[in-house]
Amino acid sequence: MLSTVAAFDRIGEENAFAVLARATELARQGRNIVNLGIGQPDFPTPPHIVEAAIKALRDGNHGYTPATGILPLREAVAADLHRRLGVEVSPDLVMIVPGGKVTMFMAILMFGEPGADILYPDPGFPIYRSMIEFTGARPIPVPMREENGFAFSAEETLSLITPQTRLLILNSPANPTGGVTPKAEIDALVEGLARFPDVAIMSDEIYGQMIYDGLEHRSLLSYPAIRDRLILLDGWSKTYAMTGWRMGYSVWPKVLYDKARKLVVNSFSCTNAPAQWAGIAALEGSQDAAHDMVAEFDRRRAVTVAGLNAIPGVSAIVPKGAFYAFPNITETGWRAKPLASALLEQAGVATIGGPDFGVYGEGYLRLSYANSTANIEIALDRIATFLRDNRPA
Ligand code: PLP
Repeated sequence: MLSTVAAFDRIGEENAFAVLARATELARQGRNIVNLGIGQPDFPTPPHIVEAAIKALRDGNHGYTPATGILPLREAVAADLHRRLGVEVSPDLVMIVPGGKVTMFMAILMFGEPGADILYPDPGFPIYRSMIEFTGARPIPVPMREENGFAFSAEETLSLITPQTRLLILNSPANPTGGVTPKAEIDALVEGLARFPDVAIMSDEIYGQMIYDGLEHRSLLSYPAIRDRLILLDGWSKTYAMTGWRMGYSVWPKVLYDKARKLVVNSFSCTNAPAQWAGIAALEGSQDAAHDMVAEFDRRRAVTVAGLNAIPGVSAIVPKGAFYAFPNITETGWRAKPLASALLEQAGVATIGGPDFGVYGEGYLRLSYANSTANIEIALDRIATFLRDNRPA
């Protein structure tokens, strides 16, 4: 019997992939499934980005690149951050990595060990907790409360920091709730963090360009006071419909950059070369397709939220970002995971139960509106019919 190290008894995963596999299997059996479980845009990568990757291959850009990414791409990231957020970032602190997840993997590895506490949002992206547990650190959930718009509360977050706290993970706009933390709350949080200079911060801003109602994305990069301990996580997956390309980037404090580079050298060597050239085209080319996609998500958001609120027992606050709704289903009498499972098996609608995003997710479902309006309407209809005809066991 092979026996791996104990950490592998603690590592978790993302149930969204299991739901996708089950939905695909049911569809293969001939069932009609509407998939609102998956967290990726249902749009093609814009053609000019695809062409840039093809051109890169034709031009012979198919070898290893520098571990931290090609310089023109790191420069393009710095220019994009300046254009969008008005912040100065040196390309020397930008690292290109294969997807958004890689930055959280590295950051949690850097700060997690037995005896350390790491704060993370709950409900939140499941890999945060999984990786924290993998390292042996103690996961400390920061509750994301519906009555607070599923945003971070500066006061509550700061109250959870102890001398053991090594890393604070932030995420706004958020998965799975669509919550956006208001600027005033981020201001207060950063101000309070001055009292805890040894706590590193990882801000996951992968949905930073998917924000609605005229709100502006407030990046943690905008606060010079924490730049020496801030790790920014961002990438191309959501903004440019590039989930399968595996393209992400991080901005590191100077003291951590070389440690991150060594992790790259010890694991994947560099990010896919043609994908990096495509990444330049994405940042420097027309943003029309990206903007059109967000405008379409905005329309579907309205359909989704209105449809959910029309179902007896279901209530959904209006999500301010990302492409998820997180309806409260407690009044239906169902618990979230059995309901998600019954909806998939019996009603042909894939959703994700809130507890897959943490204990504070009980009582909620996550629905991704990265699907056509026609499909969203079918799904809402099926959910309403199912809840009308079925009582929980
Ligand atoms: N961070 C959040 C909050 C996400 O929702 C996701 C993907 O769903 C990621 C990071 C990972 O993105 P990527 O697919 O680029 O690894």
